[in-house]
Amino acid sequence: MRQEGTWDEEKQTETTTIRTYCGVSCNLTLHVQENEIVKVTSPHDNPVTHGNLCIKGRFGFQHVQRRGGD
Ligand code: SF4
Repeated sequence: MRQEGTWDEEKQTETTTIRTYCGVSCNLTLHVQENEIVKVTSPHDNPVTHGNLCIKGRFGFQHVQRRGGD
């Protein structure tokens, strides 16, 4: 999207969710544009993670599943 010039943060929504991979259950913020997750961050004000995920969370983007999806 950045290369194509279609990246537009004003069109993006943010949804906070949690990871269920382990008991820490880190917070995630999903940034969505045009019905696609375009960025995932973790809140900096979280008292446990301070915006950082462990290596399993940081590189686990391929495990995102679509609801009713393909
Ligand atoms: S990012 Fe790491 S610590 Fe946080 S829920 Fe995922 S596996 Fe657990």
